[in-house]
Amino acid sequence: MKLKVIGTGSKGNAYLLENEQEALLIECGVSIMEIKKAVDFKVNKISGCIVTHEHNDHAKSIEEVLKSGIPVFATKGTFLGKTIQSAYWRRVYEIKQRDEFEVGRFKVISFPINHDVNEPCGYLIYHPDCGITLFLTDTYYSNFTFKGLNNIIVEANYDTEIIDEKLRDKKFLRDRIYKSHMNLDTCMDFLKANDLTAVNNIVLIHLSDSNSHELNFRKKVSEMTGKTVSVASNGMELSFNKTPF
Ligand SMILES: [Zn+2]
Ligand SMILES: [Zn+2]
Repeated sequence: MKLKVIGTGSKGNAYLLENEQEALLIECGVSIMEIKKAVDFKVNKISGCIVTHEHNDHAKSIEEVLKSGIPVFATKGTFLGKTIQSAYWRRVYEIKQRDEFEVGRFKVISFPINHDVNEPCGYLIYHPDCGITLFLTDTYYSNFTFKGLNNIIVEANYDTEIIDEKLRDKKFLRDRIYKSHMNLDTCMDFLKANDLTAVNNIVLIHLSDSNSHELNFRKKVSEMTGKTVSVASNGMELSFNKTPF
């Protein structure tokens, strides 16, 4: 299994878990063309798309994805935030914030997260090739810890020190970020709270361009966890297997 980062950050998020036979699209906050290119235009290969919440950097292309024949799984709150022509409703799969469902051979569990929208969720994704992968973004903390994870894709949005300094005179904006995104310290506390024994990859996503330091984030998280840590960037591909070999 491979993880392909089509886009990450506030300009647009989309990630693919892909093997020879099939792919799961996570988020569709980039153009449909970028999504099609990422699978060499073999759109049929995509079993489905799961979306965490309605913000455009995660859900911009929902209607285009449906139009391309790809089923989309998201909460009612997320779908209500988008305009979708009735012709495509048959490919809309409404899930609950706590739910279990299958997308091709991917088994997915949703759970609630903390963000400034209706019914946002994170996902635990199981596939025989890559074991259990956690996908957690756009939440200022996690209410849950998880057992038996093999791969972790988690938001590390900003550094509190940078933001306090930069947004000293823009308290409204600062507080909005505080209550909607995960900072590096919270991300590290979250990782610390989980059993990382079986984890092969930690991928940090959705870094803020102006309020983060990529190298520093990677260094801190890898020193603390002793794991392989990557900072997602557009076009990146990582091998994502159940075992490290
Ligand atoms: Zn976002
Ligand atoms: Zn968001």
